[in-house]
Amino acid sequence: MKTIPTLGEILQAQGVSRRGFMKYCAATASLLALPPAMVPRIANALEQARRPSVIWLSFQECTGCTESLTRSSSPTLEGLIFDSISLDYHHTLQAASGDAAEAARHAAMQENMGQYLVLVDGSIPMGNPGFSTIAGISNYDMLMETVDGAAAVVAIGSCAAFGGIPGANPNPTGAVSVQDLVKDKPIVNVPGCPPIPMVITAVLAQFLTFGQLPELDIHGRPTAFFGQTIHDRCYRRPFYEQGRFAETFDDEGARKGWCLFKLGCKGPITYNACATVKWNAGTSFPIESGHPCLGCSEPGFWDKGGFYAPLSTGKFGSGEKLAGAAVAGVALGAAAAVAGRRRQAKYTKEG
Ligand code: SF4
Ligand code: SF4
Repeated sequence: MKTIPTLGEILQAQGVSRRGFMKYCAATASLLALPPAMVPRIANALEQARRPSVIWLSFQECTGCTESLTRSSSPTLEGLIFDSISLDYHHTLQAASGDAAEAARHAAMQENMGQYLVLVDGSIPMGNPGFSTIAGISNYDMLMETVDGAAAVVAIGSCAAFGGIPGANPNPTGAVSVQDLVKDKPIVNVPGCPPIPMVITAVLAQFLTFGQLPELDIHGRPTAFFGQTIHDRCYRRPFYEQGRFAETFDDEGARKGWCLFKLGCKGPITYNACATVKWNAGTSFPIESGHPCLGCSEPGFWDKGGFYAPLSTGKFGSGEKLAGAAVAGVALGAAAAVAGRRRQAKYTKEG
């Protein structure tokens, strides 16, 4: 097993100043929603942290998850995090191709046995191994071979986390999620269509800094980002409470920024951080642009459908059922905390 340099050694070799390093630590604290008092502890942990090898596998996906991450306009955070990991294999981003790409994947696995992270976007087709192959290897075989020596797996996007759009009815490829197949490794789900890039980097930052997976909810999502609904933190919530709703996309209510509940907003039953972290470097999020939340980070996204049907109608049931769903949501939250604590796994980095 090769000796992996510490992040402190890497930054020192790159000529990064102490001041620059402390800025890095402050950015990491902010990413992990930790108080400034934690910065010295983070500095100490990061100086000793070893740059983890990351293998990113893309299966049945649209590349939206990678686009989300790479088109993020927060180079400070994302850049820092990606300077701090060794992204040894990524179909879209790597320069190598063909045999050289596969050799890079195998080298990363062998040299970092038991220590590397596997990030997966896309679902895995189980209907026929020929539906989706890379280098002649079925997605299933590549996934199982790669996760075998991994420390943990992060399922990026709703397709990898829950099956997503490829798994939607009638699911012609027999698409399944990572957690449907991988049973013996810690798994973090970062759903969304696509997921918020900062949530991906926060999971990586937590690994890097503390050698731990984040606390997870009942669906395997980090509670720090999926612990509240969009509705809990939505700036249109006062209009919801006042009963002021847009009825069409171009009526007076829409122009005045009233609540989008009657236009099908799924914010009340969708756990994600869009209303707080937002998108495009914290610029905005769909509801701020006048479009209801579609519930993309929840299991069953797409098949639940009813994108423009209000929650209180159609397949979502009556108003009473919605109230019942809210009660169930509280119960789920409590269960999530317990499940999260159970699933929290240690990732011990060795030299
Ligand atoms: S727009 Fe959606 S998330 Fe915001 S208050 Fe209305 S129902 Fe809730
Ligand atoms: S607002 Fe809703 S549908 Fe839009 S990205 Fe966030 S969770 Fe997904």
